[in-house]
Amino acid sequence: SFCWHGSQRRLFSATIVRRTIMSAWVVDKYGSNDVLRFTKNASFPVINYPNEVIVKVCAAGLNPLDVSMRGGYGAATLSMKRDPLNIQQSGSEFPLILGRDVSGVIMECGLDVKYFRERDEVWAAIPLWKQGSLAEFVVLSANEVSHKPKSLTHVEAASVPYVATTAWSALVNTGGLSKDNCGNKRILILGGSGGVGTFAIQMLKAWGAHVTVTCSRNAERFVRGLGADCVVDYTAGPVEEPLSALDKFDLILDNIGGDTECWALNLLKPWSGAKYVALVTPFLQNTDRLGIADGMMQTAATMACKALKHIVKGVHYRWGFFAPSGPALDEIRDIVDAGKIRAVVEETFSFSQVPRAFEKMEKGHARGKTVVQIS
Ligand code: NDP
Repeated sequence: SFCWHGSQRRLFSATIVRRTIMSAWVVDKYGSNDVLRFTKNASFPVINYPNEVIVKVCAAGLNPLDVSMRGGYGAATLSMKRDPLNIQQSGSEFPLILGRDVSGVIMECGLDVKYFRERDEVWAAIPLWKQGSLAEFVVLSANEVSHKPKSLTHVEAASVPYVATTAWSALVNTGGLSKDNCGNKRILILGGSGGVGTFAIQMLKAWGAHVTVTCSRNAERFVRGLGADCVVDYTAGPVEEPLSALDKFDLILDNIGGDTECWALNLLKPWSGAKYVALVTPFLQNTDRLGIADGMMQTAATMACKALKHIVKGVHYRWGFFAPSGPALDEIRDIVDAGKIRAVVEETFSFSQVPRAFEKMEKGHARGKTVVQIS
């Protein structure tokens, strides 16, 4: 007769229960929408560090960044971050899973994870160099994850983390704003009707700021409904003209880029600590175009030049960046659960409709967020 030793039995049972594959949308090379491929054989995420958790994805939020990354945006810097010693060959990031926003349920915790348990409902914004949320499961560091707001469904929750942590990083960390110092501040948001804008309007209104927004004429009611005090239609002519007739601002959040910085800094109150924070920056394009070392030098030189040019006029020029943060999401959850910020989901797609969700993103003119329901 056949008899198992205890250790053999444990090894055998561990072997049969651990999943090794999952369903996901992957890209195997950079390109347009036809590079998206559905597979049931994507590698199941593995906990490599004791502070990591595996999250079962219920919903995944999309951002314009996903469309850019599908086309190879940021590939140079992100490959270096994934493989700092350059051990692997180029292209080792494939198959790549996109999707930066997740709302889901903790399935497994690393040995050092204290703050979360299996079955906790969580939300997170995923760092750019990690595998994304267009999959059944994703592995994250516990400090990137936060308990999801109880007042939101998973689809609603998945629409928030990336834009919220970006707005938080730009307005709080870079812009110096907080719930205690916004009461008498005038803020201008260039581009208020998309993902970042719809979140930033609500957060600043929750903190008592006066918020002016630029958007298309047909988005005016929408942004007013989110709390915007003053709305300027950028399609009616040069938007800087009506804006310069208004009182000057303490902070400008620029979600648009391009030539806005030629005129926007003149709208700030000089010599009062006022800041212009641009979200559209050349950082990743520079490293894609020039390589890591030259790209970073170019970025530092451009940034220093612009900051100096404006500091002599008494205003601060800054770049804002997405910064994944569980603790920031904890604070945002409290504002959401207090009913002061709502999720703005424009359209929801099923897991089988991911290419359609990307097509929708590519058309632009967002009025809030696009979300994929995974399970
Ligand atoms: P969305 O696509 O969700 O929204 C963009 C919005 O801007 C749309 O509602 C669009 O509507 C509106 N818009 C377009 N042109 C203008 C204009 N000239 N003036 C005013 N509104 C305009 O993008 P997000 O909100 O998610 O992101 C905004 C920008 O910030 C993107 O370029 C993104 O790449 C960048 N970003 C950068 C990050 C970083 O780490 N640096 C992080 C996150 C975002 P309509 O065309 O109908 O007017």
